[in-house]
Amino acid sequence: MVIKKIIFYVLNKFIREKKNYINAEAIVREDEWEKLRKLIGKGFSWFIITPSNYDYCRNVFNLKIEKSKFINILKSRISFLKYEKEKIFLSIHLGKVRGFLENDLQEKKFKEAIEFLNSVGIKPRKFIILDDVYNKETITIAKKYGLINLVNLNLHIVNPLLKIVKFFRIKTTFIGEIYQNLEKKYFKNIFYLILGEFRNTREKTIHVEALVREDLWTQLKKKVIGKGFTWFIITPANYDYCKAYFNLKMKKKEFSETLIKRLKFLKNKEENIQLHIHFTKDKRFLENRTQKDKFKEAMEFMNSQEIKPAKLAAGWWIFNKFTLTLVKKYGIKEISNYNINPYLKKKSINEITISYVHKYWHDFDFL
Ligand SMILES: [Zn+2]
Repeated sequence: MVIKKIIFYVLNKFIREKKNYINAEAIVREDEWEKLRKLIGKGFSWFIITPSNYDYCRNVFNLKIEKSKFINILKSRISFLKYEKEKIFLSIHLGKVRGFLENDLQEKKFKEAIEFLNSVGIKPRKFIILDDVYNKETITIAKKYGLINLVNLNLHIVNPLLKIVKFFRIKTTFIGEIYQNLEKKYFKNIFYLILGEFRNTREKTIHVEALVREDLWTQLKKKVIGKGFTWFIITPANYDYCKAYFNLKMKKKEFSETLIKRLKFLKNKEENIQLHIHFTKDKRFLENRTQKDKFKEAMEFMNSQEIKPAKLAAGWWIFNKFTLTLVKKYGIKEISNYNINPYLKKKSINEITISYVHKYWHDFDFL
C-alpha cells in the first residue's frame, strides 16, 4: 500500500494536469456535443478543430455531412461557447507521418484554420497538433498566423525519452505506449508491454495504407517484401482516410490504379495479402451502414484483383458484433485484434477466429 502511494505521488508530480484541456475534434457530432456541452463553465480550454481538417473529421468520426454543413455547425458551436465566455484555441491535424509533411500543405491547413477562426472573432495564440506530427517549418508557419504557444499534452518525463529515441532514429512505439498506460495508471499493462518487447509474434503483420506513395513504396520493396510479413492492405474504400493522413495529392482514380499496380507486384512475389479497413476511430461512432458500405467497396475491389482475403484487421482495432456478420458473409475467417497481453490465445466466436497481436507494424514505419 505504502509503495503504491509513493508511486502515485511521484507520478502525479510528473503527469501534467490534462484535465483542463478539451480536444474538441468530434464536436460537430450531435452525440459528442451533448457530452461536451456539460463541461461549459468548468474552466476548460477548448481546442477546436476547424474546416481545414474536414476530411480528417469525416473519416475518423464517421461524419455524413457536406463541408458547408460542417462549417455551419462548427460556427454555431463556437458562438455558443463564446457566448458562455469559454476559452477557445486551435486544434489542427497535419498528417500522420513526419516524413510526408510538405510546407505548402501545412501552409494551406493553417491558413484555412486561422481564417475560419478569425471569421468567428477568434484570434488563437495557443494550439495543439493532433497525432503530434509536425516539423521545424510548422513552428515558422504557425508563428506567421499568430500562434505562439504549442501545447503539448504529453508527460514531462516522456518528452526527453522521445527525444533520445528520435536522436538515435529508433523506431518504436514502446515509449508512447508506456506513457499512455502510465497516465491511466495501468501498471499491469506496463508489465505486459515489457514482456511483449521480448516476445515475438506468431505472425508478423503489417498494416499497409500509405503504399501508393512512391517514396514509401521504394522502401517497402527493400525492407518488407520477402521477409514473411502478412500484408493487411487498405482499399479505395478508405481513400479519404489515406488522403487526410498521408498528404496525398492524387484523385481517387489514380489512387485505385496505383493500388492495383502494387497488388499485382505483391501477388507476383507471392506475398500474403489480407484486408485492412478503417471504419472509425471511436467505437461510439461505429455504424452498421458505414461498415456495410466500406466492406462492399473493399471486397469488390479485392475480388476484382482476384484476391480472396481470409483475414481482416480493422483500423484502430475498432469493430463490433456486426463486423463479425459481415466478415462471415464475405468468407473471411479471421479478425485480428490488438491485445497488450503477449500470451493471449486466439478464440472463436460464431466460427470466426479472433487472433491477438501484441506487436504489429505500419507500412510508414519503414520510411
Ligand atoms: Zn490502419
